[in-house]
Amino acid sequence: MPVESRVIRLDQSIESWEYSDLPQDWVEWCPVCGWDSGSTCLTTERYGLSVGVSTCAECGFVYFNPQISPEAYLAFYASGKYRELVSGHHGRLINAETIKPEQEAYGKALCQFIAEEIRPKPSPWSLILDVGGSTGTVSRQFPSEDRIVVDPASAEIPHGAIEGTLELTEKMRGVADLVLCCQMIDHVPEPSAFLIDAMGCMTQGGYLWIDILDYATTREIKIDHPSNFTRPVLERLVWGVGLTPIADRAVDNHIGLLCKRST
Ligand SMILES: [Zn+2]
Repeated sequence: MPVESRVIRLDQSIESWEYSDLPQDWVEWCPVCGWDSGSTCLTTERYGLSVGVSTCAECGFVYFNPQISPEAYLAFYASGKYRELVSGHHGRLINAETIKPEQEAYGKALCQFIAEEIRPKPSPWSLILDVGGSTGTVSRQFPSEDRIVVDPASAEIPHGAIEGTLELTEKMRGVADLVLCCQMIDHVPEPSAFLIDAMGCMTQGGYLWIDILDYATTREIKIDHPSNFTRPVLERLVWGVGLTPIADRAVDNHIGLLCKRST
C-alpha cells in the first residue's frame, strides 16, 4: 500500500475501520510474568474505541484484554491504518517521510549513548538488526558493515532490507552484534515471546537495546499500544527472558535499557 499522503479525519478513519469485527481472544496469562490475568476494565482509548484492559496484579503490566491477534496487529501496521489514526489524532501528516528528521536525531543520540557505554567501542558494528525499524533511518545513524531492517510496514522500509514482517528468520539467528528494538515493544502484543526471538538474533557477546514509552508518565491507552510498560515492568521483562541491563537512559517519556545476555 502506498504511503498515505493526506490527513484523514480521525472520526472518519475510525468509522471506516471495522475494528470491532476483528476476532478477539482472551489473554489468560500476563504476557510478561505469566500471572493469572484476573479481571479487566473497559475504557475508551485515545482514538475513541472501546477496549478492555488488564493490569497484572503481580508485575503491574497493563495490556489489552481481550486482544486482536498478533497477525491482526501486523496487518494494522502494514495497511497504513496506524499512520492514518496517528495523523488524524494530531491533525498533521505523520508518515515515513515526515518522521525522518525525528528518527535521525533519535538515532544519532542513541548511537552516541551506546558507544559511550561500551568498551572497547565497536567501530563499526558488524551487523545491526533493527526490529520494527520503520524507514531504516535510525539504524543508518550507526556505523556498521551490514544492517537488516525488519518492519511490518513494507511500504516504508528501504530498498534492500528484509520486508514486510516482524518474523525473525533462521538466517538472523546469532548474527547481530547489536539488536535494536526502538520504541516498538509497546506495539507488540506478546512481548516476552517476541523478546526471546530478538535475543536469539544476538551474537554471544552482542548487545540489545530496548526502550518504552513510560506508562507511569503518560497513563494513556491507545490501540497501537497493546502493551504498556513502566520501568519496573520493562526490567522484569528483560531479566525474565535472560537479559541483563548494563545501562539505562531516560529521554522525555521514554525509558531504555542496553542489555547483554545474562549467561
Ligand atoms: Zn505480570
